[in-house]
Amino acid sequence: MHTGRAATRALLTAELGVTRATAGAVAAELEALGLILVDTRPAGPSGAQGRPSHRLDVAPGGPVALAAQVHADGFRAALVGLGGEIVATAPGTMTVPADPAHVLGAVVEAGARLLRDSGRVCVGAGLAVPSAVAEPEGTALNPLHLAWPAGAPVREVFAAQIARVGILGPDGEPVPSFVGNDVNVAALAEHRHGAGRDAQHLLVVASGHRGVGGALVLDGRLHTGSSGLALEVGHLTVLPDGRPCHCGSRGCLDVEADPLAFVEAAGRAPGPEVSLLQQSIDLLQQEYADPSVRAAAQVLIDRLGRGLAGLVNVLNPDRILLGGLHRYLLDADPEALRAVVADHSLWGRSGGVPVLACALDHNSLVGAAELAWQPVLDDPLAVLGV
Ligand SMILES: [Zn+2]
Repeated sequence: MHTGRAATRALLTAELGVTRATAGAVAAELEALGLILVDTRPAGPSGAQGRPSHRLDVAPGGPVALAAQVHADGFRAALVGLGGEIVATAPGTMTVPADPAHVLGAVVEAGARLLRDSGRVCVGAGLAVPSAVAEPEGTALNPLHLAWPAGAPVREVFAAQIARVGILGPDGEPVPSFVGNDVNVAALAEHRHGAGRDAQHLLVVASGHRGVGGALVLDGRLHTGSSGLALEVGHLTVLPDGRPCHCGSRGCLDVEADPLAFVEAAGRAPGPEVSLLQQSIDLLQQEYADPSVRAAAQVLIDRLGRGLAGLVNVLNPDRILLGGLHRYLLDADPEALRAVVADHSLWGRSGGVPVLACALDHNSLVGAAELAWQPVLDDPLAVLGV
């Protein structure tokens, strides 16, 4: 139901590999928990043998997860229902101060307003941050484009704000809190609901407001390494004599293929009125005829393609998704980017790895909600049957 593979009771029966009676009992149980609606009057051919089957729909007004995202320019809160659907969202612009409690308090309050207005049950809260998140501590290890100190205990602070604002779950206690890296959770969302569906080894590379992030979904699970810090693809060297990077190296993807690098390559000054990401997208979409913009796009495509080729050689993914600035570079010249990847990778040359754009709006928010939905997906009765 959550990934859209069981639109009818017959499909549910097939997906679960159980008898029709068992699938019927499961559907009735999920309906009793307020998660889904079972159409009582079957119509239309949709069963495995062309027999009419009961339609299953996500219940309108059903439970939601509170999703929160913090980025260099502020935050966004959202409510996300079963099926990964955003049912309400609210942005907030602010300079993020050093104490994480400020922005996390603001985003939780925005989420609480959305919950009040919707009247829905909340199953949990998930937060996406532009930093590697160390596990099991839940600390933001390198929030480089925020003023937060390295190692800020974001999960603890987020949970404290949830408790302070009084966001309660079905059991009357503050809802559980989860935190993940924004690109990691975006990859999870794309794998379940977007352009990454059915990929076995899904590589996602994206550049939001600053820096470059990556994620790998292996057989449906995020690969986060031994302590949550895998896939720091931003620190692949793509230009040995390039600009210095905050990691101590030079010419990293992080500083050579993000929106600031693009704006500078196009000979423009960063404008204060819009974010660097929006400025970059505007240049690509509205001024691509300008030779300096076109040349900058080719420079960035070359750097990004070399980085992707290195990752293809190491990881052998069966699909690559690009997000943020990178999906707009792909849109600008898909053949050029795919050619650079193919020219510099062993597996890319032989078979070709599909390089596609991320498909979901706000995929980090949907992914943050995935973290909060997971306990319900694992055991609906334990969370909602209280
Ligand atoms: Zn670096």
